[in-house]
Amino acid sequence: MAIMILPPDVVGKIAAGEVVERPASTAKELIENSLDAGATDIRVEIREGGRRLLRVIDNGCGIPHAEVELAVARHATSKLRTADDLQHITTLGFRGEALNSIAAVSQMTILTRSASEETGAQVRLEGGQIVARESHGAPPGTIITVENLFFNMPARLAFLRQPQTEGGHIAEMIARYAQAFPERRFSLLADGRLVFQSTGSGALTDVLVKVHGLDVAREMIPVGVFGENRPPVGVFGENRPPASLTPTVWGYIGLPSQHRANRNHITFFLNRRWIQDRTLTYAVLEAYHTFLPVGRYPLATLLIELEPSLVDVNVHPTKAEVRFRDPRAVYRAVQKAVHQALIEQAPLPSVTLPAPTPGWGQPDGWEERRQALLNAGQAPQQPELGLPRSALAPAPLPTPDEQGVAPWPAEPPTASDLPMLRVIGQAGATYIIAEGPDGLYLIDQHAAHERILYEKMTAEMQRHAVPSQALLEPITFTPLGHHAGLLAEYAAVLNDLGFILEPFGGHTYLVRSVPAIMHRADPHQATQEVLEGLAQEEDLVNDAREARLVRIICKRAAIKGGQTLSLIEMRELIRQLEACQSPRTCPHGRPTMIALSAVQLEKFFARR
Ligand code: ADP
Ligand code: MG
Repeated sequence: MAIMILPPDVVGKIAAGEVVERPASTAKELIENSLDAGATDIRVEIREGGRRLLRVIDNGCGIPHAEVELAVARHATSKLRTADDLQHITTLGFRGEALNSIAAVSQMTILTRSASEETGAQVRLEGGQIVARESHGAPPGTIITVENLFFNMPARLAFLRQPQTEGGHIAEMIARYAQAFPERRFSLLADGRLVFQSTGSGALTDVLVKVHGLDVAREMIPVGVFGENRPPVGVFGENRPPASLTPTVWGYIGLPSQHRANRNHITFFLNRRWIQDRTLTYAVLEAYHTFLPVGRYPLATLLIELEPSLVDVNVHPTKAEVRFRDPRAVYRAVQKAVHQALIEQAPLPSVTLPAPTPGWGQPDGWEERRQALLNAGQAPQQPELGLPRSALAPAPLPTPDEQGVAPWPAEPPTASDLPMLRVIGQAGATYIIAEGPDGLYLIDQHAAHERILYEKMTAEMQRHAVPSQALLEPITFTPLGHHAGLLAEYAAVLNDLGFILEPFGGHTYLVRSVPAIMHRADPHQATQEVLEGLAQEEDLVNDAREARLVRIICKRAAIKGGQTLSLIEMRELIRQLEACQSPRTCPHGRPTMIALSAVQLEKFFARR
């Protein structure tokens, strides 16, 4: 194909795809705009999970008549003037892309009135083109209505999930912003029903009650130093700590007994921007280390305050990932704040010494630690306060049955037949040496990691919640001739597994995301290998193919033999393996480990 510059509408759609992935990302951009506009009351209305209609109503500063049309132009923003301003961004938006992107892929109506003007202005756009404009009476503030999202992008439309799933993502998004901005009031109306509302009281605890329910929220532990110069917990506003050169961390975390099946309940805000950061999640997990049963995760809402020039928020179009100038300082601050709160405030599990066991004995107090861990997992719930739940508890986000909006998913606890293992070291950069209560274990790190990823991904797939990792730059991918049909046929399955592929003309696809567990792989090669795997066993029926795809992805994503691991990495790997249902074999049925019992060792060394 000869080189040509793409026409503006194609460029617009490509760009839009980066910012507007689904209804929830649209809601996120509009809510951020309302927050930047100083709104104290933000109402979101959705129909059919935001696919039919998504409306955000705010009481912010509004857009002056003369600027309404400019607001939807590409790279039009009132929040940034020079490249230098990028160094110290204090608004949530700054790229000037959202309104333009959303308008390009929907039918959008903006009704807005600036407080200083008598009448409002209304502009209607279809696929990015202005089709109507008029003066219109309106209260001060802005109402943006987005109808039929992706009406002109059938490929993207086809990838949207059921309305309740999309609606659930929107509800999660709103709950997050409500936590970051407890002094503002957020409401969500789904198909005419109020499904979430925060009070705007300024107390983070009030929002946590709405998000987790009263029973959970009232037991959460405050994090952060709240001395004389600190604000009372959970109150923003004038008392808010000033942006600081060293990261300040505060918020609330769950008791060790309030553990959950996944990490989704660990939420971070940086200067009130919701961010995703695996390293910081790990800092929290590390702080909880030995407090939680294996394979279980804590609740945490943590707000990090940091001088804006010490962090780059312009890393990704959705601004969900940021880059810290000193990531270690932030890691330490989070880890320390959480650990301190736990040590000072969490009721410690009682340690009971077990009777001496025949066999391996008790090296280094290992049994005590093991027992403490087991007890922590079964820590008794705090006594009830004796109030009827229904009288006190404002409903947390509803279950799908009640309101048709999916709440956070829950998993059944997993059962493992593997004892708790203590990592001793690594051999040949391929095998992990560990000891358990009954002997010595040699674990194949690749096979073990494959098993962990396989069980994780299978569970995620069943919940239709396989996380995907957006590529910084989408890549184009053209399958080899005989793979083209397969790719078309399996696009939806691949999407379920975290590959976001869009037809891009001819047999070419645009790869926007890969399964999160493959984030380190070369995306082109990864897509290629997955297709090859699919092609190899064409006689398999649908379900078997899906399972096969998961195995291929996990094999590709798992750490390899020959890779040196740190002690922390090995411990994490073993902890995850312990939580697996079938830890002793890899998904292909090969063993993950060799066990040498204490008895065998004693016999071998002729000690008995
Ligand atoms: P950005 O937020 O990065 O500036 P957007 O495309 O999201 O870019 O918005 C463009 C501009 O439109 C904003 O800079 C702001 O001036 C204006 N705007 C958008 N939404 C609102 C709103 N709800 N209230 C007031 N002004 C708004
Ligand atoms: Mg914006």
